[in-house]
Amino acid sequence: MVEAAQDILKVNGLSTSFLLREGEIKAVDNVSFSLKKGEVLALVGESGSGKTVACLSLLRLIRWPPGKIKSGEVILDGQNLFDIPLKDMHKIRGLGIAMILQEPMSSLNPSIIIGRQIQEAVELNQGLSGEEAKKKAIEMLELVRIPSPEKRYYNYPHQLSGGMKQRIMIAMALSCKPKVLIADEPTKSLDVTIQAQILRLMQALRNDIDTTILFVTSDLGIVAEMADRVAIMYAGQVIEICDVFKLFTNPAHPYTKGIMKSIMALKTGERLNIISGDPPNLMALPTGCTFHPRCDYCQEKCRTEVPQYDDISGEGTHMVRCHFPLGVDKTQAEGKGK
Ligand code: SF4
Repeated sequence: MVEAAQDILKVNGLSTSFLLREGEIKAVDNVSFSLKKGEVLALVGESGSGKTVACLSLLRLIRWPPGKIKSGEVILDGQNLFDIPLKDMHKIRGLGIAMILQEPMSSLNPSIIIGRQIQEAVELNQGLSGEEAKKKAIEMLELVRIPSPEKRYYNYPHQLSGGMKQRIMIAMALSCKPKVLIADEPTKSLDVTIQAQILRLMQALRNDIDTTILFVTSDLGIVAEMADRVAIMYAGQVIEICDVFKLFTNPAHPYTKGIMKSIMALKTGERLNIISGDPPNLMALPTGCTFHPRCDYCQEKCRTEVPQYDDISGEGTHMVRCHFPLGVDKTQAEGKGK
């Protein structure tokens, strides 16, 4: 019998706000998801939906004031990270959870050769030193497909292209051998051909070293290529989680369905489907379901009652935050527009 993979990371009821003089911005609101060992979960949403704040909250990198993690727990391999004294979190960052940031250009030290920067990460996290650590740093350069790694070891960041810099960031993150790797839109600032190279590299690394990845993106094309499962975020909440096939064939949340229709229209050249209205002001969220002012399926209940996070698959594989998920109860979900 094949044993089911264990959850390596569990996020339960995570809420993070920014407390400003003007009011509270609920950037992450009661978010829950989990990652199994070896899988890639894509965290998807438009700008401002709370993806990056959620990731920084996992690492407790939210700066107070004005940011504050208000509630929830983050269980990494059985240990609640919110129980650890903040001064000890550096032991988790890197070895437990490593993060590749959006902007490789500003994440590397311009005055230190890149080999030395990787070596420092190796020394800090793997306990190696001297020649041994240098050898490991060169191995990491090789792993991320940097040509002539022994020579490139001595390059400064400005001598590398944008794509190569992002590979260095990936090498540094992986040199810590993290249990979970967070990739926060790692191809966002790169041009399209380099994006494809980095994605291919990440896929290869995933196969080679069995990494568990939380892949943050707003690009559903990347999701289709990279992810096993997807969590969709809207206005600080995760509103749907399912596997990639389900997402593209049977999305259950009206917001997810709206995005999918837009993509299909782009592919077929039909008139573009637009979700009416704007994303809500996080300081003054709508009552009930936060998507209700834009939803074609909105009913009275949606305006007043906050939808719970429900398992519509019966086996924990498809979670939706909607009173009337599409395809589940068609008499209610369909044909009752606003
Ligand atoms: Fe639409 Fe109601 Fe579902 Fe919200 S709860 S997404 S308003 S149907």
